[in-house]
Amino acid sequence: MPVCEFTPSRCHVNLAALRRNFARLGEAERLMPVIKADAYGHGLLPVARALADAGAQRFAVGLVDEGRALRDAGFSQRIVPLLGQLTPDDWQRARALDLTPLVACPEDVARAAALASADRPWHVALKFDSGMGRLGFVPEDVPALLEALRAAPGLRPALAISHFAVADTPEEQDYTLRQLRDFTAMTDAVRAVFPDMERSLGNSAGTLAWPQARFEVCRPGYAVYGGNPLAGTAWANRGETLEWVMSLSAPVIRTHALKKGQSLSYGRIFTAPRDMQVAVLGCGYANAVPRVLSNALPLRLHGRRVPQVGRICMGMLMADISALHDVQPGDRAWLLGGPAGPDAPVTPDDWAAPLDTIAYEILCLVGMTNPRVYDEEQA
Ligand SMILES: *Cc1c(COP(=O)(O)O)cnc(C)c1O
Repeated sequence: MPVCEFTPSRCHVNLAALRRNFARLGEAERLMPVIKADAYGHGLLPVARALADAGAQRFAVGLVDEGRALRDAGFSQRIVPLLGQLTPDDWQRARALDLTPLVACPEDVARAAALASADRPWHVALKFDSGMGRLGFVPEDVPALLEALRAAPGLRPALAISHFAVADTPEEQDYTLRQLRDFTAMTDAVRAVFPDMERSLGNSAGTLAWPQARFEVCRPGYAVYGGNPLAGTAWANRGETLEWVMSLSAPVIRTHALKKGQSLSYGRIFTAPRDMQVAVLGCGYANAVPRVLSNALPLRLHGRRVPQVGRICMGMLMADISALHDVQPGDRAWLLGGPAGPDAPVTPDDWAAPLDTIAYEILCLVGMTNPRVYDEEQA
């Protein structure tokens, strides 16, 4: 995957923490970790390797291309592309690579059936829409689906998938229960004919908060990377043992004095209220550091939180290091995570809240715009 290489900042990925999170989410044989979008910015292949070492037997990816990358790297697990097969070529390749294709509409049944036969059967993943309104069969479709499957002896429904919309929201329990009920009804009808078909409903929030929705296979993404989808809700404690896997560091490029009354950076949105000492860090909005957090970005240097000052630039940003002693060029500041110190590490949630977004978006963008290094424990 292309990652911006021209920056001294680094995205650190702690694979030991990733494996611990995976273990916290249940037995490996009953999980299908979601590694779409380059494993939420953590890197498809290193993450897949770590999860395979931890016993993963299935992977959910986004595209057939991601499945191809896994097969090329030698992975033999079941692989389901959650976006489905988007072109005729995707269908051919899904078959050739022995992916488990997503079958989400009558046309998909026909396309899959054309590539399979009773003596060369193909395991497929049936997708049901229990309330996301995105992809999949709805309850009214099920009789025709069963009919079509009966007429396609080459197709073996191995897995049934559906997706929660509000499993992370205690106030919306009724909707989640309705999704659970509809999914159960639809899959019961199919399992009457195909009793070996496994079921998978829970995303991270479902896995953590809805034990009655675990079925045979849970499908967490975010929680594998340490995100607690229940943070800030009455259920937050259900995900509080998870550890963030990604950290972001940037080196000090230079330190210098700023005199009282001097301004710094674009727009002059910061003026020194006193004589101070400033560090220039090699990281900016080109590396997914949100410019809108200028003058307010939390960060740590020497284990201490220090104020970020002035407008965040494309590849640089400044910090007020007046309270620290002996900061040297080359020292690493931690914009996310980092080694334990007197002050708490910054989390992706700390960035997401003022941006009115979710940490999922932060992980994807930081992982795509910073060179990644894989640490076992140090990050
Ligand atoms: C992304 C995705 C998941 C994982 O969701 P998380 O909230 O990251 O756990 C599961 N299922 C489907 C269909 C998805 O698209």
